[in-house]
Amino acid sequence: MRFASLGSGSRGNAMLIEAGATRILLDSGFAAREVESRLGQIGVEPDSIDAIVVTHEHQDHIRGVGAYARRYRLPVWITAGTNRQNRCGVLPEVRLFNPHESGFHIGDLEVTPFPVPHDATEPSQFVFAAGGLKLGILTDIGFYTPHISEMLQACDALFLECNHDVDMLASGPYPPALQRRVASNLGHLSNDQAVDFLRQFDLGRLQRLVAAHLSEKNNTPDLARRAMLSVAENIEDRLSVAGQDEVSELFEIS
Ligand SMILES: [Zn+2]
Ligand SMILES: [Zn+2]
Repeated sequence: MRFASLGSGSRGNAMLIEAGATRILLDSGFAAREVESRLGQIGVEPDSIDAIVVTHEHQDHIRGVGAYARRYRLPVWITAGTNRQNRCGVLPEVRLFNPHESGFHIGDLEVTPFPVPHDATEPSQFVFAAGGLKLGILTDIGFYTPHISEMLQACDALFLECNHDVDMLASGPYPPALQRRVASNLGHLSNDQAVDFLRQFDLGRLQRLVAAHLSEKNNTPDLARRAMLSVAENIEDRLSVAGQDEVSELFEIS
């Protein structure tokens, strides 16, 4: 199983996830041409994508979904609530899923969605599994619930939101209302919350941890990295930080 961040942060998010003969995009928060160029950086042909899975309707996740899906005639997996927000235009093929129910398959990938607290209509995050390996995705959540922790147990790779440093957010440039929204239970996970989450997570099985969706104004890669290492220093060689403007390497878990 392989995955890459094509860009992560409040200006746009997209991931490539692949297993066996199946390749999908998780979100497409960049213009279609930008996603094509970012895929090219890791040697992936843009027409080799099989489907797009959408987390929620915020522009940094959905902006380019419609254009990309239309260009390559791709099915889009989306919740009814997200779809109702109508941010994609006319899609070639809508596949609705319910994050409260069991998962679905896209080719060789088994997809298990779960609902998350975030200020969107029906947001979900995911576990992607194939061949006994599991990749957990957790971004755009205000806080983690016991159900979320349970869903993400025993993952071999984890893409974990480290949105903000609490002190930087409080003293940063955001107006008070936006500061409150980011820090709220329907906002984004702070470095401290990500640390708490990791403390009850089984790190033994983890091959790759990616700190993700960092705020460019209220966090730094170094702060996020140090927060993650405060949980266990021995994860250093398994730890990466996803950037807004860089495509990550194509991580492989096996
Ligand atoms: Zn986001
Ligand atoms: Zn969001």
